[in-house]
Amino acid sequence: MVGNQNKADITKQLTDEWSKLTGLDLSVVDGELVNGGVTTNKGISKTARKEILDMIESDGNVYIDFTTVSASETKNASDGSKNSFITLNVETIAGQVAGTSKDLNKMTSGMGMTALHEMGHTFLHGKLPHSDAEMKKFGVIGDIDKRMNQIRSEMGVNWGQRLSYTYLGVQGYNYTPMNSASLKAMQNVLPQLMKGNQNVKMPSMGVIKQKSSIIGKVLGYD
Ligand SMILES: [Zn+2]
Repeated sequence: MVGNQNKADITKQLTDEWSKLTGLDLSVVDGELVNGGVTTNKGISKTARKEILDMIESDGNVYIDFTTVSASETKNASDGSKNSFITLNVETIAGQVAGTSKDLNKMTSGMGMTALHEMGHTFLHGKLPHSDAEMKKFGVIGDIDKRMNQIRSEMGVNWGQRLSYTYLGVQGYNYTPMNSASLKAMQNVLPQLMKGNQNVKMPSMGVIKQKSSIIGKVLGYD
């Protein structure tokens, strides 16, 4: 579970990453996200800035909480009100950051980006779902991750591009392709994996590699 002191630290980590993504001086005061103004217009994502400002200015509420138990997820109020509830699994996110290959920026699938992904499921973006195609076919992404890739492209080449919503599970690890070369390499070994042969060479660059015990959406290729 996540204690109060940890929550304060994690909240700061989240607002620090959002500040880097947006060039805004963001902090949480009395439980609410506050924009202290523009700190820079360089090396930031205009898309991420707009999304954070839209959230702050919205007449609805996005509540964010942290867990180590369930998967990161978003729930929306069932009464039609503009209230959405995001839960972020801090251990999963830490695993993503640790497993980000060294050619990529560690924040590409960090706390800030994961929260922005989850925001795609809130009322702010029409409660976007993941399509069947994304969830079943390796190498497919939907509107939410296209939006995330737009943010990545604004941040820089070393943020990569997430090219599959599902992971590929190999030898106890889940691999997410973060550029076209690693996607191609993974698609090349897919026939072997489908035959049950796990003795394949996986790419070491342009990937996020997590222990497969981590909660998440894993592609079954049986
Ligand atoms: Zn999602």
